[in-house]
Amino acid sequence: MTTDALEQRIQILPESVINQIAAGEVVLRPASVIKELGENAIDAEANMITFWTEEGGKALIKVTDTGIGMSPLDAELCFERHATSKIREAKDLYRLGTKGFRGEALASIAAVAEVELFTRRPQDAIGTHVVISFGMKRLGEPVRCASGTTLIVRKLFQHIPVRRKSLRSDLTEHRHNLQEFFRLAYPHPERHFRFYHNQALIYDLPPTGLAERILALHPSLSTAALVPVEEETSLFVVRGYIVLPEETPPQNRENFLFINRRYIRHPSIQQALYQLYRPLIPTETRPLYWLFLEVPPDQVDINVTPSKTEARLLHELEIRAMLTSIVRRVLAVSNLSIPTDWFHRPSITLPPKPSAVELSSPLTPPQQERLSLAPPPSPRGEFLLLYGRFLIIAKREDAWFIDVLGAHERILYERYLQGIPVASQGLLFPALAPISSAQASLLAEMQPLLIERGLALEIREGREAVLHAIPAGLPPATAPLLLEELVRVAECDTLPADWRERLAKHIARYGALRPPYTLTAEAVETLWGDLSQCEDPNHSPSGRRIRFRLNEETLEKLFQV
Ligand code: ADP
Ligand code: MG
Repeated sequence: MTTDALEQRIQILPESVINQIAAGEVVLRPASVIKELGENAIDAEANMITFWTEEGGKALIKVTDTGIGMSPLDAELCFERHATSKIREAKDLYRLGTKGFRGEALASIAAVAEVELFTRRPQDAIGTHVVISFGMKRLGEPVRCASGTTLIVRKLFQHIPVRRKSLRSDLTEHRHNLQEFFRLAYPHPERHFRFYHNQALIYDLPPTGLAERILALHPSLSTAALVPVEEETSLFVVRGYIVLPEETPPQNRENFLFINRRYIRHPSIQQALYQLYRPLIPTETRPLYWLFLEVPPDQVDINVTPSKTEARLLHELEIRAMLTSIVRRVLAVSNLSIPTDWFHRPSITLPPKPSAVELSSPLTPPQQERLSLAPPPSPRGEFLLLYGRFLIIAKREDAWFIDVLGAHERILYERYLQGIPVASQGLLFPALAPISSAQASLLAEMQPLLIERGLALEIREGREAVLHAIPAGLPPATAPLLLEELVRVAECDTLPADWRERLAKHIARYGALRPPYTLTAEAVETLWGDLSQCEDPNHSPSGRRIRFRLNEETLEKLFQV
């Protein structure tokens, strides 16, 4: 053992080794090269970007752009590690307007392949040609070339047999390449993209709008299948398209979430959207959507993984809740074939007259149409409806007397409390109420849960509460009453422990359809089934009796047998 105090076992790694290590994270397969070079071309403001690949990118990847190009000096510098023109100081990380910022893509690619660069700025007469092979610079010279930039990547991983071997068939790699190509092409429909594989032009996407770009890449979808989403909230702006449940391609696995025009995997948001669609699509199918969130750059952190495909959001919970609520509303408004269950109303068929007023909201699909697509009928039972409101049904040896209105309120109440997603409907005329700053802060505390429960509440400058959406099915006229209750709850010093119950009670009361009813046998079965699942099937949320059971014994008592 040595006792030398100056013993040095730790070495600072040479640049070439550092680049190879970084490459391990940045360059996993040809598709990573497609992504990085494509992003650089977009950052370079190119309006035309062409990709050529051979053998799934294993033999060649070439990307040409018509962007701003590089000066001779930059053309040499760009392969240095941490060489970037996109940020200068740490602060810049929180006001990013570009895809790149780590300055390691070109260094990493050049460490594991043979790379050739041709670049010229439009204002220069002569361009620059650089060749760098597995981390070693071979050439740097002036050249005549088109303005913009061309990068050619050959022999990817050739000197790393393990990596080379881990690549899949040409076809599989080609598919991965296309996937990255799509993820670049969707958020930039205003730019021209082309993709060649083994010399064949696979995609030619001239500048267009988002819907046309989506349809160009998804020829099996019809225009009608795409439902636009566009909404501005206090935390983000979202626009894009969702595909209706029944139009979703069977077995679809992919969906497209972009944050600040960058393709992002955000499992918790994607999961929330999946949950929303789940009752509406087969289990093995994922919803298909293209949603573009714009979030202020200082409220999102992209620097989570080297490939920058994950993001941390400052207001993740709120954004997730608001986004699901927005998508839910868009679906509710545009889709008439959603089963009634999704709206959490028992299948009660109504005489059109007394309820017509309640259901006239222009944003809610007509109740009758939804009901006609209710779940398949269950076996019919005997029932009798008295005075349009009280139901008598026979179950085994017993007869049950049920107040349908109370039962309906109870079912709505429990569902609301259980946290089953609630569809919401936007209000044409939002309800307004003045509030104090103390109320504002309590209401802000309630906001995320309210949104999940179908209530979109905005707090304006801490002085005014604005209710923009209420649970679907509630008459819009009840919005001011709901807002009143919310403001009342927020009058306390802290949130009352039972505020959710209080709110649920109101919503159940306003949401329950009013008698007189007409009921089909199926509706009676559904009502009975839903009621039986309630924690308290015997009392309405306000404590009224919902049902009585008459059996032989009680009848004998009644008749003094
Ligand atoms: P980053 O994109 O994170 O800055 P890269 O290694 O991808 O890092 O690129 C390094 C630098 O090279 C960029 O910051 C940019 O200045 C320059 N560059 C790369 N590709 C292009 C291109 N296609 N057109 C113009 N400049 C480019
Ligand atoms: Mg880059």
